[in-house]
Amino acid sequence: MHELSIVLNIIDIAESEAVKAGAVAVKRIELDIGKLSTVEPMAFDFAWKQAVRSTMLEHAERVTNYVSGKGRCTECGTVFGMNELYDPCPACGSFLSEVIEGRELQVKSINIDS
Ligand SMILES: [Zn+2]
Repeated sequence: MHELSIVLNIIDIAESEAVKAGAVAVKRIELDIGKLSTVEPMAFDFAWKQAVRSTMLEHAERVTNYVSGKGRCTECGTVFGMNELYDPCPACGSFLSEVIEGRELQVKSINIDS
């Protein structure tokens, strides 16, 4: 399950930030997850609950923003909203497009308890 490795990576980032700031726990964490990333929300939630046990994030409130995707058609250059990878271009119907937004997976902010 690759969501677990993503969660572990996020916990790593958050904990090292918290430690740097001299915190004892993370109070709140905000994440941006692109709708075109490969993260499956339910699997992610499940992995999160397992992985945060006994970490500084165990009692952290988690806010997850699912960021909409955006693609640019490589045929005609139209930029359009993408809900899934390989959505066709609404202007010319081409399936050739590059994803310009929506693949991100990042820690947006962390609030800590010190
Ligand atoms: Zn097009």
